[in-house]
Amino acid sequence: MTAVNLLDFDLDGLADFCAQLGEKRFRAVQLMRWIHQRGEADFERMSDLAKSLRGKLAGVAEVRALPVISEQRSADGTVKWLFDVGAGNAVEAVFIPEDDRGTLCVSSQAGCAVGCRFCSTGHQGFSRNLTTGEILAQLWFAEHSLRRAGAGRGGPDPRVITNVVMMGMGEPLQNYAALLPALRVMLDDHAYGLSRRRLTVSTSGVVPMMDRLRDELPVALAVSLHAPDDALRDQLVPINRKYPLAELLAACQRYLERAPRDFITFEYCMLDGVNDTPAHARALLALVSAQGPVGRVPCKFNLIPFNPFPKSGLRRSSAERVQAFAQILIDGGVVTTLRKTRGDDIDAACGQLAGEVQDRTRVHERLVRMPLPAAARSRPDAIGGGHEGG
Ligand code: SAH
Ligand code: SF4
Repeated sequence: MTAVNLLDFDLDGLADFCAQLGEKRFRAVQLMRWIHQRGEADFERMSDLAKSLRGKLAGVAEVRALPVISEQRSADGTVKWLFDVGAGNAVEAVFIPEDDRGTLCVSSQAGCAVGCRFCSTGHQGFSRNLTTGEILAQLWFAEHSLRRAGAGRGGPDPRVITNVVMMGMGEPLQNYAALLPALRVMLDDHAYGLSRRRLTVSTSGVVPMMDRLRDELPVALAVSLHAPDDALRDQLVPINRKYPLAELLAACQRYLERAPRDFITFEYCMLDGVNDTPAHARALLALVSAQGPVGRVPCKFNLIPFNPFPKSGLRRSSAERVQAFAQILIDGGVVTTLRKTRGDDIDAACGQLAGEVQDRTRVHERLVRMPLPAAARSRPDAIGGGHEGG
């Protein structure tokens, strides 16, 4: 029998597990602190645990980290880890240091079934959901290895990672059951102690699960918009066919009633000739305005320069295009930021995370057959048509 992985549990889960061993709840708190605050995986070194408990744990439980395939450091301080999740699948996590914070970008699935046109994970197809333990193992490993490398702040709060964004590989809201306990551990004061404002779930728009997250654990929310109308969004973010923009925006409004921040962050990946014209920017403003389908949506826009990858057949918008686009949004009264690309030299930027996955969906074949918007079609060099059929 394989040992139970204690990384799979939030505090209640650990308490239940302790109860099964005939141990009191405070033992779960101790375990949580040893594992997540101190990075300890060896029960023998958990010195204030009763010897009898250490003995019991040794037989049945372990702190099972993910094997690290590689660690790459960018000139700008960004660190990318590739983790082995078995059966030929790998996922990535990226640490992005800034002056006032350290952000870890975490993966939720091996591959992704949504299949967005511009996303390299989407092109790889879907293999499987990560477990809670595999989601948390990324944070556990990153935090403690960065501390060991001396990145810690020392003192009473040695934490290196102050923010977590679920923006790695996968659609977190299509792995809700494993995601929720992982988020609870990230927020737990006995573990990582993040505030809800510093923990962001990014979604392509899985409407029913947005409602559940709102009801059960409302953390900061980012929504990947990428298009101002259904016709274009259907092509770029296929889940739009199931949950079109009016439904998505209504879910955003509902989310805001409980959200820890009073705005939704809309991510918008700038694709040359596809979604980056002044007309698109004006349509976007109209969409979230009082005259839009659900009235004014309090929001910020985060414009992401497209990170090209082989076979995408798409190009990054020029800096001038992006500037002009941003200016229209800003003039329309919406706070708009331009995401800096970080870790470019190690392919750690958004949508470039490309740990190998064993695709079971053959999504890439479907994606390259999918018609692109007219604007892109009119540019013969904008689509790589040469890999039709895989
Ligand atoms: N599945 C979730 C979270 C992971 S993707 C989601 O889609 O929101 C994180 C962000 O990276 C999303 O906004 C996504 O649209 C964006 N992204 C994906 N591929 C990209 C690329 N090639 N260039 C720039 N951003 C990309
Ligand atoms: Fe999946 Fe997000 Fe990539 Fe779309 S952008 S394919 S939802 S990971």
